Amino acid sequence: MIRFEHVTKRYPGGTTAVRDLTFEVAAGELVTLVGPSGCGKTTTMKMVNRLIEPSEGRILVDGEDVMAGDPVELRRRIGYVIQSTGLFPHRTVLENTATVPHLLGWPRARRRERARELLDLVGLDPCVYGDRYPDQLSGGQRQRVGVARALAADPPVLLMDEPFGAVDPVVRERLQSEFLKLQAAVRKTVLFVTHDIEEAVLLGDRIAVFGDGVIEQFAPPTEVLGAP
Ligand code: ADP
Ligand code: ADP
Repeated sequence: MIRFEHVTKRYPGGTTAVRDLTFEVAAGELVTLVGPSGCGKTTTMKMVNRLIEPSEGRILVDGEDVMAGDPVELRRRIGYVIQSTGLFPHRTVLENTATVPHLLGWPRARRRERARELLDLVGLDPCVYGDRYPDQLSGGQRQRVGVARALAADPPVLLMDEPFGAVDPVVRERLQSEFLKLQAAVRKTVLFVTHDIEEAVLLGDRIAVFGDGVIEQFAPPTEVLGAP
């Protein structure tokens, strides 16, 4: 579903963030990208939805070169969740969740119905939280809205960049286990960036262990842990 072929990214100024990356993520697979800060995880992820352009090589999503088509069209097929959720402060939880359906021109009743369904799915009662504004939620609840929003138009691919990084450890554990259940139900093709090896092992079907611009190991959790 996602395929990197000899992808290199050099930033203006000379930093080579990633070098000759080749890997594949299967449909419905959740791959965690783990490694210390500055080793190229975010750069790798942002090239998938074309927020960053590769210097060399190519990236295919569902067989199509991401650089070939319309980036807006590409991003409609790719949900994106980041640490600071980027929720619109003057939009309610329901409206925030329905952002992409709104952009796609779905009728109001259908968007609201879909938003309610998604809020239920991420464990937020839409009757209680739907009409609140983001600043009336806890950090963990805002992250749930971020996930609901990313899933609203049912994209096949989900990119998550340290989505649970800004909440306290107890809340993070709940979000992680609920996200696992959610993923079992919706089966998206997921790239999930984290610097926390425990999180990478808990969530990943496979783990891409990054070190300074290259993937040093790409294996299921048991192998990554069991390496002698
Ligand atoms: P990670 O997500 O693993 O922390 P990044 O992909 O953010 O790593 O960064 C990889 C390398 O690229 C780092 O050395 C970082 O300083 C550099 N880098 C990231 N973004 C830019 C940019 N916009 N311009 C120049 N260098 C950048
Ligand atoms: P109406 O009841 O007239 O259909 P809408 O719900 O379409 O009203 O929208 C009212 C205003 O709010 C419009 O300016 C619309 O662009 C904006 N809006 C509504 N829903 C969203 C959303 N989910 N995301 C962003 N803007 C929205």
